[in-house]
Amino acid sequence: MRCCELQGKKDIKVVERAKPDTVAAGNVLVRVERAGICGTDIHYYHEGANGAFVVQHPYVIGHEFCGVVDAVGEGVAALSVGDQIAVDPNIICHTCENCRTGHSSQCMNARFFGSASTMPHVDGGFQEFLCVRASQCHKVSEPMDPDRLAFAEPLAVVLHAMSNLPSSLVAKKVFVAGAGPIGALAVAVAKIRGASEIVVSDISDTALARAKDVGATLTLNPLRDSEVIAAFGKGKGYFDLVVEASGALPAVHTCVEVVRAFGHFAQVGVLGKALVEIPYSRLASKEVTFCGSFRNGPEFGEAVRLLETGQIDPTPLHSHTFKAEQISEALEVAADKTLACKVLIDFT
Ligand SMILES: [Zn+2]
Ligand SMILES: [Zn+2]
Repeated sequence: MRCCELQGKKDIKVVERAKPDTVAAGNVLVRVERAGICGTDIHYYHEGANGAFVVQHPYVIGHEFCGVVDAVGEGVAALSVGDQIAVDPNIICHTCENCRTGHSSQCMNARFFGSASTMPHVDGGFQEFLCVRASQCHKVSEPMDPDRLAFAEPLAVVLHAMSNLPSSLVAKKVFVAGAGPIGALAVAVAKIRGASEIVVSDISDTALARAKDVGATLTLNPLRDSEVIAAFGKGKGYFDLVVEASGALPAVHTCVEVVRAFGHFAQVGVLGKALVEIPYSRLASKEVTFCGSFRNGPEFGEAVRLLETGQIDPTPLHSHTFKAEQISEALEVAADKTLACKVLIDFT
């Protein structure tokens, strides 16, 4: 089987490995159909590291993937050969206090597919077949387009980031900074939850056009519309909820300004390991609730439901598809935010 093995900075190769011939109890063998390139994969490829996690040996990257059950291990009742599934990349312990209280995004013993956060690194989904615990698989009831199902993980991340916010967004005003896949999915979620205004900022007009396609009511480019953006920050701010999905420092500052008094601030963008200076007193004096977020918790099933019922259609965010053999090119294209949104790898 073909595996996209990251061997170091800017060095990824398609290598042949033997297809697993046994499946452990409680596991299934997944035949991968599609895998999405995430910012994490881009960092691992272009920098040989993702923040503090440095690539120390060759391994298979990728954590956004869906496919079909190819073989079933002993004791697996919920899945059968042929089931189409999306895989939650979080390998959690189910026994630590955070897992037991439903907060598995903070599992104390977590591992993660396609991640160099642990030694040895955990092989991910950029390969034709891999064994996965059945408990991480979420099956769809009717066969669906894998191009859409591949969005389950980023959508789960967005649902998780929004799980600490007031549950109803009906008639709420929402600001999203950054219109990459995560920001655009936050727009789509805000839309189905009834937000009345969804304003999106990004320095890429291509990204803004995609945000409009999934529900933004107004799109603003800070390079052009800085005065309009600044006006939202007058007085005590304007938006009930701001979602920072860019990880760019100027956008963080904008979010601090435009969130209204008693509003919510959700940080989803990854700010890297640099110390970030934010006008903290401005947040405090407006009595804003700050919500951090990390990966996803139990929201994965809901993400799959929203995609299979079509309540969220991520199609406008799918910008490119490459074959496994083109993985280097795919990672180059995915890094160009003026061009790419979600880049998918087709393993069929
Ligand atoms: Zn991801
Ligand atoms: Zn745990």
